[in-house]
Amino acid sequence: MKIKFREAKNIITKSNIPSIDYVINPYIGCQHGCIYCYAEFMIRFSGHKGDKWGQFIDIKTYDFDKIKPQKYNGKRLLLSSVTDPYIPLELKYQNTKRILEKLVNTTAHVSILTKSKFVVRDIELFKKFDDLEVGISISTLDENFSKLIEKGASRPIERIDALRKIHEKGIKTYTFISPFFPRITNFKDIIDKTLNYTDSYMFENLNFRPYNIPRILKIIKNNYPELLSTYQKFRMDNSHWEKIEVEIDAYCKSLNVPYSIEFHHGGFSKS
Ligand code: SF4
Repeated sequence: MKIKFREAKNIITKSNIPSIDYVINPYIGCQHGCIYCYAEFMIRFSGHKGDKWGQFIDIKTYDFDKIKPQKYNGKRLLLSSVTDPYIPLELKYQNTKRILEKLVNTTAHVSILTKSKFVVRDIELFKKFDDLEVGISISTLDENFSKLIEKGASRPIERIDALRKIHEKGIKTYTFISPFFPRITNFKDIIDKTLNYTDSYMFENLNFRPYNIPRILKIIKNNYPELLSTYQKFRMDNSHWEKIEVEIDAYCKSLNVPYSIEFHHGGFSKS
């Protein structure tokens, strides 16, 4: 892992994601190195040409006292869109924690999104916010498949355990079932295992991008060869997602749980 420090001009930046006003990315790069990651464009965007996604991290340096907390009153903030705020290096460098500490006395709506068990470190800090929710992102409960597609992230069972601990402390939670791998993501199973610890669900489809297509298809070919033609179909024609949306609708309605389906929008980390 290549680790560098990089001075940031801004640490809270305006967002292009619908319904999010600002995004906070305390690091450049992500130790989780998910094979499907939509943030991989950051390689060229941040001058890391030649580096592999998941193998470099720039620790942003910033004078956190420059954050003007009141500016974010009533605004919707997402932490994070092109990294994970609780990568293992956060335990040492604490950028996420230091930014959150600045926002405690605001009326901002803060949404945390992570695949890391280390998020529980900040439970006491989360409790100080009026309007904060923590989302745990999960694609699969299958440990082996998870290791193949998101080898640096916490195991799915560890993420669910983190969700439970956070929810039990009275903090609002959501489960982000993403990315949805057709015929692999068992969303009903994920819902059944998280239902007691989550206030709402969000679903996002697997977005095929030129840089992730070869990796995704290789893993499918090697591990689920019988699904290869299915994946080719989903890749070529977005209408295949509609049947899955209908199934999600029916299941969530039967359980009477709040949910939103963010299919067809091109990737949550697009900004
Ligand atoms: S955790 Fe999120 S940002 Fe990090 S590699 Fe995975 S998908 Fe990308």
